[in-house]
Amino acid sequence: MSPSRMRQVVLLGPRQLTVREVEVPEPEPGEVLIRVELCALCTWEQRTYTGEETFVPLLGGHEVTGRVEAINGSTYLDLHPGDRVAISLLNRCGQCQACRRGYDNICEHGFDLPLRYGIPGPAGLSEYLIAKVTDLFPMPPSVPPEHVALTEPLACVLRSIKRARIHPGEKVVIIGMGVMGVLHLQLALARGGVVIVSEPNPDRRAAALAMGATAAIDPSREAYRERVLALTDGWGADVTFICVPHAAVVGPAVEAAAKNGRVLMYSSIHPRGTKVELDPNIFHNKEVVLTGTMSQSQRDFFEAAQLIAHGLVDLDPLISARYPLEEVRAAFEAALREDTYRVFVTMA
Ligand SMILES: [Zn+2]
Ligand SMILES: [Zn+2]
Repeated sequence: MSPSRMRQVVLLGPRQLTVREVEVPEPEPGEVLIRVELCALCTWEQRTYTGEETFVPLLGGHEVTGRVEAINGSTYLDLHPGDRVAISLLNRCGQCQACRRGYDNICEHGFDLPLRYGIPGPAGLSEYLIAKVTDLFPMPPSVPPEHVALTEPLACVLRSIKRARIHPGEKVVIIGMGVMGVLHLQLALARGGVVIVSEPNPDRRAAALAMGATAAIDPSREAYRERVLALTDGWGADVTFICVPHAAVVGPAVEAAAKNGRVLMYSSIHPRGTKVELDPNIFHNKEVVLTGTMSQSQRDFFEAAQLIAHGLVDLDPLISARYPLEEVRAAFEAALREDTYRVFVTMA
């Protein structure tokens, strides 16, 4: 028997949050009640906690691992109570132009999740969750719950990697060695890229070199474009992934791109609305492509779940700390520190 009440985190504004008690939701036909095991604190939740994102109140939490508690109706999946699942918490309406054209990662209603609790948000920082069967990705029991929760960010990175079309031996520069930078590093290496990272934090540079990067640039002391050219025999970067939210890196990234270079804006740029100035002739003369990716499609999520289920990505270096739900504030403070990667809030 599931309990009838559960705890849930509500983000309220700069350094303000509360843990409230609400009814455990009832799954409608085709829906599944999930008992949440843990939820990671991603950048969106962190920015809401600091006040940089002002959309509050918010039920944050979208990198979630849970176990099936109850299924309402039948499913073609081999899914049973107790099974561990990764959960896609992005709404994919299936009806809008973006969804019908195959871009369900940028569904026009991506964030219109049902207002089950009176407050918007994916609500992963809750003891129970409702999900559609189509948004569940069953995982082998041997996969640690922290790894399962990283399916969502890995899926986003996988989309970025696929869009870059890395050819074996191409020079790949990754700007920023946070969680997303590290995931890009691993997948770029798996595609045969020769990876250079750019990161001001010396510990993160050292970690990137230990994980297989060929060289590391310190952009706080070195001239980015000159270093990239020096490290690529004057050719430039075939692929550049921007994994920091700073507009100032876009110009140098485009200028250091090789002929036919692809520059991908993985991160959103903050503050939103910031402009960048670029010489348009770079695109003409060198056929450079500047593009980006947003979230992940259902297919990207499926593929990321496969990689994690089969242990093909080394996620242990990204697991920094776990805090019980009662200590969710301490968890946020830890997540904001430079010496952590992912911090998890455990529910059980
Ligand atoms: Zn995330
Ligand atoms: Zn849609």
